[in-house]
Amino acid sequence: MSATYNFCAGPAMLPSIVMEKAQSELINWQDLGCSVMELSHRSKAYMAVAEKAEADLRMLMDIPENYHVLFMHGGGRGQFSAVPLNLLPTDAKADYIVTGSWSSAAAKEAANYGNINVIDAVQDIDNIKSIKSPTDWALSADAQYVHYCPNETVDGIEIFEIPETNGVPLIADMSSTILSREIDVSKFGLIYAGAQKNIGPSGLTIVIVRDNLIGNARKETPSVFNYQLAANNGSMYNTPPTFAWYLAGLVFEWLKDIGGVEGISRVNIEKANMLYQCIDQSGFYKNNIDKSNRSLMNIPFWLNDESLNSSFLAEAEQSGLLALKGHRSVGGMRASIYNAMPIEGVAALVNFMNVFAERHK
Ligand code: PMP
Repeated sequence: MSATYNFCAGPAMLPSIVMEKAQSELINWQDLGCSVMELSHRSKAYMAVAEKAEADLRMLMDIPENYHVLFMHGGGRGQFSAVPLNLLPTDAKADYIVTGSWSSAAAKEAANYGNINVIDAVQDIDNIKSIKSPTDWALSADAQYVHYCPNETVDGIEIFEIPETNGVPLIADMSSTILSREIDVSKFGLIYAGAQKNIGPSGLTIVIVRDNLIGNARKETPSVFNYQLAANNGSMYNTPPTFAWYLAGLVFEWLKDIGGVEGISRVNIEKANMLYQCIDQSGFYKNNIDKSNRSLMNIPFWLNDESLNSSFLAEAEQSGLLALKGHRSVGGMRASIYNAMPIEGVAALVNFMNVFAERHK
């Protein structure tokens, strides 16, 4: 069988080396005669794995000492609630920069908890979307924090510059961009990410939070979403998603071995360039994002002749190129090319797209 490449937006492809290692030790982990899945989270052997995963993530992202790294449940959407519950006093205000469907959903959820100032930061010029200049974002003077989503998974729009918020804590939903390129963590008050794209399996959510921002959760905050409780208990206030945490640790080891975030970011740029170039030069496919804001991870594209969509998808699948259907809200196609997608996978997709276009021109 020829190689299969999975372009799903999440849960997404994981590195084959990691999957093989997990398989090899699935039933008998560290010669303990049982699976890591079956072990107490408080056992010495598991604690060592948990601590190493955290240390490796700290190294990969160069996370400063004064930040907690929390391994939580509830996914990105869980954090849509956890962020305001922990950081927004009743009746206080927060700014939400909206650049696509996920930041919009985050703003809607936060509106259940406080006064949310929604800032529409996308402009559409001749059907090409780009991010408005941050100097035109009407940030509030009295916001408790500013929330944004650097990479919109559905829309394929990415903000590469870290916004200047003049001392107001910056909160980022990095679900689909974490570990894909280098970022300066110290510029953020809090970063969160669901694991199921660049980290590991679903069920685990990473929260990286500056220590001065925790400890003021509202009384009604569910304990499992309380950052202070999570931090005080080493993310083991309740049973953490142990297998996902272990697998994330294997992904972090893999990423360290292949050159860390700096190394993978060069590959990610190359992969994205290959795909955008194919789209732009084809006269057959199109993408609707300005070059300065094109996502490195999620690349939506449309066939000029949409009546060919189903044959494109069926033939792609026959060629081992899976999950290319665009999100239901925008249609068309989407190729998600996270860290684990090898360059060969993108080359195979580009080759398929060129051949398909040639045949149907
Ligand atoms: N934020 C972003 C940027 C996402 O891509 C997603 C999921 N695709 C979410 C939030 C929601 O994550 P979850 O399904 O883990 O709640």
